[in-house]
Amino acid sequence: MIRIVGAGFAGVEAAWACVSRGVGVSLYEMRPTKSSPAHTTDYFAELVCSNSLKSKLPTSPAGQLKSEMAALGSLILRLAEEHAVPGGEALCVDRNAFGSAVTATLTDHPLVDVKREEVTPAMVEAWLAAGDKVILASGPLTSPALSDWLAKRTGRDHLYFYDAVSPTVDASTLDMSIVFAESRYGKGEGNDYLNCPFNKENYEAFVEALVSAERAPFHAFEAGGVRGEVTLDEDYKLPGEEKLLEQIKYFAGCTPIEAIAEKGARSLAFGNFKPMGLTNPATGRRPWAALQLRPENREKTLYSLVACQTRLKFGEQKRIFRMVPGLENAEFVRYGVIHRNTYIEAPRVLSPWLEMRETPGLFIAGQLTGVEGYVESAAMGILAGLSCLASLQNQELPLPPRETAYGALLAHLQDDTPREFAPMNINWGILPDPEPVPRDKSVKRAMKIAAAQAGLAEWVSAHPFSLGEKGQG
Ligand SMILES: Cc1cc2nc3c(=O)[nH]c(=O)nc-3n(C[C@H](O)[C@H](O)[C@H](O)COP(=O)(O)OP(=O)(O)OC[C@H]3O[C@@H](n4cnc5c(N)ncnc54)[C@H](O)[C@@H]3O)c2cc1C
Repeated sequence: MIRIVGAGFAGVEAAWACVSRGVGVSLYEMRPTKSSPAHTTDYFAELVCSNSLKSKLPTSPAGQLKSEMAALGSLILRLAEEHAVPGGEALCVDRNAFGSAVTATLTDHPLVDVKREEVTPAMVEAWLAAGDKVILASGPLTSPALSDWLAKRTGRDHLYFYDAVSPTVDASTLDMSIVFAESRYGKGEGNDYLNCPFNKENYEAFVEALVSAERAPFHAFEAGGVRGEVTLDEDYKLPGEEKLLEQIKYFAGCTPIEAIAEKGARSLAFGNFKPMGLTNPATGRRPWAALQLRPENREKTLYSLVACQTRLKFGEQKRIFRMVPGLENAEFVRYGVIHRNTYIEAPRVLSPWLEMRETPGLFIAGQLTGVEGYVESAAMGILAGLSCLASLQNQELPLPPRETAYGALLAHLQDDTPREFAPMNINWGILPDPEPVPRDKSVKRAMKIAAAQAGLAEWVSAHPFSLGEKGQG
C-alpha cells in the first residue's frame, strides 16, 4: 500500500508516477478542511506565488530538468503545456485552469483514492507499523503537528526559512501611454512583458520611499528558524530583522525588493530593474531603470511585478508601487507577502532514493527534501514515486547519472561536506563542469547540456519503470 501525504507539486507527481505504471495509491490532502497560510484554493498543485515554471528552453538547466521529467512521464508538465499563457521563454500557466485540470485528472483516476483530511503523526506511525510505504510530500508549509513529528523522527533539527512574493495588478488600471510592451532584446514570442520606464528622478524617489517604508509584522506561525531549536509555540520569540535577512539570503532569488534597495541607490537599476535590451518608445532611448510586468493569465488581464517580492505593509505597497511610472492608478489584486519554508537536512538523513535512512518505508518528496521551486519539487515527487515503486517490488531504482539535472539536484541533497545546508534550485552551477573546462562560457554550457542529455538517455534505457503502452494512465 502506498500512501502519499500532500497533493502539491511533489505529491501529485509521486501519485502519477505510481498510477501511470499500474500501482494504486491513497493521496491525502488537508485542504480545504485545513489550509496553509499561503494556499487559497482547494486545487492540487496550487501555485502559491508566481505562475511561472521557469525556462522552457532545452538549452537551459530548467529546460533540461523538464526534458528529464518528461522522459519519466511528468503529469505537471503535460498539463502546464495544455494550460500555458504567454510568458516568453518561461513556461507560464493559467493557475486556475491548471490547478483544476491537475485535480480532476487525479480525482477521476480509478487507481487514486483521494482523501481530503489532515494527516497526523499517529496516522503515519500506524501506516509505517503496518508495513505501508509512505511518501511525505507536505511541502514548505507542512502542518505544524506533522512538521514537529518529522523533526523528532529525523533526530535532527530542521529549520524555517522565508520566501517573498511579488504583488499582482489589474491590467486595465495600467497607464498604457507610459507602459510599453517589449521583451528584453526582443526575445520571446511576441511582447509578453510590459515595462514601466523610470528616469533618474523618479527612480531615486522610488528607492528612497522603498527604503524608508514600513514593513509588515510577522505572524507567530512564521516564527522559528534556527537549527537546533524546533518550536511551534505561539509565543515563540520572533526573529529580528538581521536574522530574517540572513535567512532570506539563502535564496537570493527571493530577496525582498526593499532589502536589495537598501544595498545601494543603484542596486535595483543594476539588478531587478536593469534596463538592458529595452528602448522606451516615448524617448527612443534606454530608460534609467525599468520595472517589468509579466502576464498572470491567458487573457492578460492580470500582471505581476517581476522580482518585486516584498514584506512591506499592504498600504505601503500601494503607496510606493504607485510611484512607478505607469502604475500611478494601478489596482492591486494581490499584495506581496513573506512566507515560511520547511525542509530537512537531507545530506544527514536521506538516502539517494529519498528514503529516510533511519525509517525504511518513509520517503520524502518535494521541497521538504531541500530543493527549491515548483519544478524541482515536482521532479523530486517523480523520483520519490519511482523509488517507492522499486522498493515495493524489492528492487533498487538506478540512480540518475551525475551529469543529468536530476543527478545535480541529488548531488546537492547528498553533499555532506560541512556547510549550512540550504534549498537549491536547478542552475548552471550545480551541473558538473566538463573536463577540461573550456574557457568560453557558452561552449562550457553547451557541453553541460550535451552531457546531461547523454546521461538522460543512458538512465532512461536502464530504467525498469519506463512508461509502457499502458503507462499513460
Ligand atoms: C509562499 C511561497 C511562495 C513560493 N513561490 C514560489 C514561486 O514563485 N516559484 C517557485 O518555483 N517556487 C515557489 N515556492 C517554493 C516551492 O517550490 C513551492 O512551495 C512548491 O509548491 C513546493 O512543492 P511541494 O509539493 O513540496 O509542496 P506544496 O506544493 O506546498 O504541497 C504540499 C501539500 O501538502 C498539504 N499538506 C501539508 N500538510 C499536510 C498534512 N498534515 N496532511 C495532508 N496534507 C498536508 C498542503 O496543503 C499542500 O497542498 C514558494 C513557496 C512558498 C511557501
